[in-house]
Amino acid sequence: MEFGWSEGDRKFRQDLAKFLEEALPEDWEEVSKDGPGSDAQAAFSKEFSGKLAERGWLTQHWPSEYGGSDAPPWRHAILSEAMWACGEPRGPQYMNVNWIGPAIMEYGSEAQKSEHLSRISRGDVLWCQGFSEPNAGSDLVSLTTRAEPRGDDYLVNGQKIWTSYCQNADFCFLLVRTNPQERRHRGISVLLMPMDLAGVEVREIDAVIGDRYFHEVFLTDVVVPKSCRLGPENEGWAITSYALQFERVGAPRYARAALTVDLLAENAAAGGRLADPNLQEKLGHARALCEAARVLHYRVIDQRTHGLPPSADSNVARIAGTMADLAVGELALEIWGSESLVYGSVGDSNFRASMSAGIATGTTEVNLNLIAQRLLGLPRE
Ligand SMILES: Cc1cc2nc3c(=O)[nH]c(=O)nc-3n(C[C@H](O)[C@H](O)[C@H](O)COP(=O)(O)OP(=O)(O)OC[C@H]3O[C@@H](n4cnc5c(N)ncnc54)[C@H](O)[C@@H]3O)c2cc1C
Repeated sequence: MEFGWSEGDRKFRQDLAKFLEEALPEDWEEVSKDGPGSDAQAAFSKEFSGKLAERGWLTQHWPSEYGGSDAPPWRHAILSEAMWACGEPRGPQYMNVNWIGPAIMEYGSEAQKSEHLSRISRGDVLWCQGFSEPNAGSDLVSLTTRAEPRGDDYLVNGQKIWTSYCQNADFCFLLVRTNPQERRHRGISVLLMPMDLAGVEVREIDAVIGDRYFHEVFLTDVVVPKSCRLGPENEGWAITSYALQFERVGAPRYARAALTVDLLAENAAAGGRLADPNLQEKLGHARALCEAARVLHYRVIDQRTHGLPPSADSNVARIAGTMADLAVGELALEIWGSESLVYGSVGDSNFRASMSAGIATGTTEVNLNLIAQRLLGLPRE
């Protein structure tokens, strides 16, 4: 089998590179150093994503009826690689176009589709993901945030934690328990909750990986209209599983890691260090991990293109991406030394990102368990 990019794909890459040169401000490194959730990047996200939308690129992989242009998933993959390689100028909006929008397309009412999909495809709305709780992370089905029916509304009480980007978010994709009698997977619902409702309190958790990465969200007697519920009541787990299969390979962090290895190699060559066979081997190893992650991500995109159901391949791709991130993060520290500790430097931002790679969107251990069960057919316990 031969894999190659079409002429149109190549041209798209070139157009994208030219667009980025013009659209990113001169101080982009400064703006982006705190990560996609920082105040500076959240503000820039709407301006930048609006420009992508004007060109028809932001949601090009979506159906035309929802503001897309029916482009193949490959076009979106090319766009995502370019975005992650330069520090994700879409900010949190990568989540909107990767999985929040598709979940609304699949399960939303006509009113929800018309309200949310049009805003997402225009690039002027920020979302956050309210899944984890103090006692529900990997074991997400243990969540206890309660939504009690009150006429046309729900009264929501509970707490979320580790919520990224929510300080500046307009909406939260919130998981709540609507039936406390049902345990585990049953009795969970999804609310598309406006973040400006009374009773929603956001507190930032200081984190070494950057500003605005983590928050606690306290929900006290929040009145959420039932019209904000996505899909049927108590069927939220199916919706979440649908959304998560898009999330797992939605962030091609290997693109950033590969670029960092190239910079490391240039730097090592300039400093006369490439004569060291040990260093050469480490550079080669790190680059190979990035390429393995890239090809494994492509495999999942290919399956999606062919309409195949989600499989353990997305967990495998995720593990490969984490391995690449960790190897490159450590190598950056080794080659750049103390320079890598300067806040906002390429080495530092790569190292900070690599620290969380095996935790966000499902930990390495949980992904390995899923591979053991789904790919190797091993028993659960
Ligand atoms: C950068 C970053 C961004 C995040 N953003 C968000 C967000 O926007 N919204 C949100 O809701 N959450 C977010 N999270 C939270 C993330 O989803 C959770 O941290 C993750 O699911 C793990 O849950 P936990 O922290 O409760 O750890 P736990 O689930 O308590 O796990 C602790 C340890 O036990 C291991 N473990 C747990 N279960 C098993 C098992 N069955 N077998 C083997 N080992 C196991 C884990 O691998 C881990 O090492 C984010 C996390 C990070 C790092």
